[in-house]
Amino acid sequence: MEKLEVLLKREEIGQKITALADQIRRDYQGRCPLLIGVLKGSFVFMADLIRILDMPLQVEFVRLSSYGSGKQTSGKIKFAQGLRSSIRGRDVLVIEDIVDSGLTLSFFLDYLRRKKPASLKVCALFDKASRREVPVPIDYIGFVIPDAFVVGYGLDFDERFRHLPDLCILEGG
Ligand code: 5GP
Repeated sequence: MEKLEVLLKREEIGQKITALADQIRRDYQGRCPLLIGVLKGSFVFMADLIRILDMPLQVEFVRLSSYGSGKQTSGKIKFAQGLRSSIRGRDVLVIEDIVDSGLTLSFFLDYLRRKKPASLKVCALFDKASRREVPVPIDYIGFVIPDAFVVGYGLDFDERFRHLPDLCILEGG
């Protein structure tokens, strides 16, 4: 039977996003960064982050697929939707919901580097650091979380639970 257990409450997530936004705003002062969200999971985080950032910025999204319908990464990553504009000379900030093995982010960063941005940084709200298989640089980290399958705040299991405002551990799914 499925069971949801709250890991991080919406208030805690909100406070963390405010702190991340303060750091990002300071670091990018006087510049207009391009925030690239990795769909689908990052859309809730992106929406909250940019409204708190309250600075000149642009937003893009890509969709990378690695997970099938289960809980484990297949390890094979491909673009389901790529970039639609040039990033050459731009200050690019990748917005990730969660980093697990790091395979997805590593693939995406390699791709972005080849496109010659002026700078390239990563902001990830949830980090399952203990699960890392390939090292990835994360410049702004929200929460390091335990090795559990989480849903809510944009994250799904088979397209369910994205709407939950809290981050929850899904057990027995
Ligand atoms: P990685 O390539 O780092 O193993 O996995 C990254 C992607 O796997 C994330 O963008 C997310 O889509 C998915 N993922 C990893 N861990 C979780 C989790 O605990 N819950 C959910 N819903 N998705 C996860």
